[in-house]
Amino acid sequence: MTNALTKLLDSRDWLLADGATGTNLFNMGLEAGEPPEFWNVDKPANIRKLYKGAVDAGSDIFLTNSFGGNASRLKLHQAQGRVMELNLIAAEIARDVADASGRTIVVAGSVGPTGEIFEPMGTLTHASAVEMFHEQAEGLKAGGADVLWIETISAPEEYRAAAEAAKLAGMPYCGTMSFDTAGRTMMGTTSAAMVEMVEKLAYPPLAFGANCGVGASDLMRTMLGFAAQGSSIPLIAKGNAGIPKYHDGHIHYDGTPDLMAEYAVLARDAGVKIIGGCCGTMPEHLAAMRAALESRPKGPRPTLEQISAALGGFSSASDGTGDDANAPKRERRGGRRA
Ligand SMILES: [Zn+2]
Repeated sequence: MTNALTKLLDSRDWLLADGATGTNLFNMGLEAGEPPEFWNVDKPANIRKLYKGAVDAGSDIFLTNSFGGNASRLKLHQAQGRVMELNLIAAEIARDVADASGRTIVVAGSVGPTGEIFEPMGTLTHASAVEMFHEQAEGLKAGGADVLWIETISAPEEYRAAAEAAKLAGMPYCGTMSFDTAGRTMMGTTSAAMVEMVEKLAYPPLAFGANCGVGASDLMRTMLGFAAQGSSIPLIAKGNAGIPKYHDGHIHYDGTPDLMAEYAVLARDAGVKIIGGCCGTMPEHLAAMRAALESRPKGPRPTLEQISAALGGFSSASDGTGDDANAPKRERRGGRRA
């Protein structure tokens, strides 16, 4: 039984994923603090518009509006009893949009972090994390998602728990971590350590990589870190459209469509198979990325110098995988990214 993503991966050199969920929904009037997953039920037309924006811009894969759809995060809004409902509808609307497109589009069921810290530092146990992710996975599966898309993960323990949940649900999955702290995840994982962790999984992902983090250049440095490990599992790059800037009371990402087109080509040349954006990435960015991927010939793997020249400087001198690989990780607790 071959799923839609495996088929696409086998038949294409690169696949275009989607862009931002949050940024697009804020532009439609989502209030800060309001759980986006409620809109699956309360404002389905907006969710359809979000999905269609990616599909019409040329995405081959798009994520469902279910990033915070686990019991732990929904509990913050007294909605921990709505996990099945909110995930199922997120995927159902997506299935509809994908099937109406007339081409093969992969519906990826977004699964974000629980927002809790694993024991012994925190209170989250492996068993309860698996249970929460499994509950969400069943909702996404029931709504028609092709794959689960685990994203913005900081802790290897959480990645492993989500992978186990995917297996329990009988769903293939992809999984990305967010490298936002001087090249490492908030919990200290480097790109090299992630490859090692993924390679050891009993139930491996169809593709793995990085999303969000700092800007497109940092994310590309992480891609070179993955590529250096020579894994045979396809890579995913979902970088932010530049750096967030406050402007007139709202957050604006400074990356232009041209910059994201450069990033997409560099990612492909670095050996990345699934290329998309994260925060700040709008349909106009995706369209520019698609046009560049289709029109520009494949080049050699870019160097760090070529990446910073094209996309801007890095946020830190090193990504933690080189000479300072044993340096102590930066302490940063709590306040996990949404
Ligand atoms: Zn992001």
